[in-house]
Amino acid sequence: MPTNHEILLASRPVGAPTPENFTYREAPAPKTPAGGVLLRLLWLSVDPYLRGRMNEGKSYVQPFEPGGPIASGGVAEVIESDNPKFAVGARVSGMMKWAELQAHEGAGLTVLDPAQGWGKLSLSYALGVLGMPGMTAWAGLTIHGRPKDGETIVVSAATGAVGTLVCQLAKRRGLRVVGVAGGAEKCAYAVETLGCDAAVDHRDPELKEKLKAACPNGVDIYFENVGGVTLAAVMPLMNQFSRIPLCGMISQYNAVEAAPGPDRSGALWRAILTNRIAVRGFIVSDHSGKMGEFLAEVAPLVASGEIKTRETVSEGLSNAPAAFMALLSGGNFGKAVVKIA
Ligand code: NDP
Repeated sequence: MPTNHEILLASRPVGAPTPENFTYREAPAPKTPAGGVLLRLLWLSVDPYLRGRMNEGKSYVQPFEPGGPIASGGVAEVIESDNPKFAVGARVSGMMKWAELQAHEGAGLTVLDPAQGWGKLSLSYALGVLGMPGMTAWAGLTIHGRPKDGETIVVSAATGAVGTLVCQLAKRRGLRVVGVAGGAEKCAYAVETLGCDAAVDHRDPELKEKLKAACPNGVDIYFENVGGVTLAAVMPLMNQFSRIPLCGMISQYNAVEAAPGPDRSGALWRAILTNRIAVRGFIVSDHSGKMGEFLAEVAPLVASGEIKTRETVSEGLSNAPAAFMALLSGGNFGKAVVKIA
């Protein structure tokens, strides 16, 4: 009788998640559901938004429940099938539980067809540059950033899954690109590999001054992934009629209370008003109808090597919580993925 391994949410994290918030356990192997498939997980994605799903309360997706499964993007092999759309041996991507074997009804699964280029690319790219984070970068920049040749963009979390593609696409669209990342190695990568014109470390006490020096014509687009001190440093540089695609606020995800100090929201709103800044929060699923357009542009550039990709790969399902916890404090460089089998 084959056994399975799975990870459950043991309890809701308060502040930064700890290993005690997760349960790794042996479980009986699931059976193929009628009309569905049995999957063997190959790759698992860990993403910042999972932190929000571990909290109770209203958001744009249902929260995970203590004692229940955690799910995120995954790539798997079909090992049994009761659905003609999914042949045994096919590789598929979609939302998957944190479990080595899983019964799946089939809804929302995409076949990664070798004839469409997946034979030559790592299947993990379906979780990164050619998946949800890549689509987020493309949609945020194209639809909400509305970039024009010669403009200046600042990209926070520049060397992460979303940021790496925003930087490279913005450069291809003729912008001056300034990355913000944590540490000298990531900043060097942003300039030397991603093609940024400059990069600034968000932990540098002179962040404000260095960012200003890197943006002599002000900032036309701020691709916001983090909030906190980076947002505070960028706001005074925003030009009139500039745009802020508001993609993420990772510096706040583990916060249990408001940051100490005076309430700066009045000054923030005033800067938005006087500079007529278009701030647009968005969720990648808002643009799922444009997935084909995104892939038509980006997939050939990834295949040819013109778009560079980087991954931090952890090994084994039991290491998924550690990979997720590291992501929230900059432990990843590029897309964080877990190789399961
Ligand atoms: P990344 O691969 O960029 O990993 C997260 C990175 O965030 C870390 O590596 C770290 O980079 C940075 N970070 C963590 N804490 C802080 C902090 N306090 N201040 C500044 N930077 C910090 O993740 P993704 O590319 O997957 O996601 C980036 C952002 O985009 C997240 O906010 C995420 O929630 C959001 N997102 C939004 C989507 C949407 O639909 N709106 C979809 C996907 C992602 P460093 O070492 O440089 O500090």
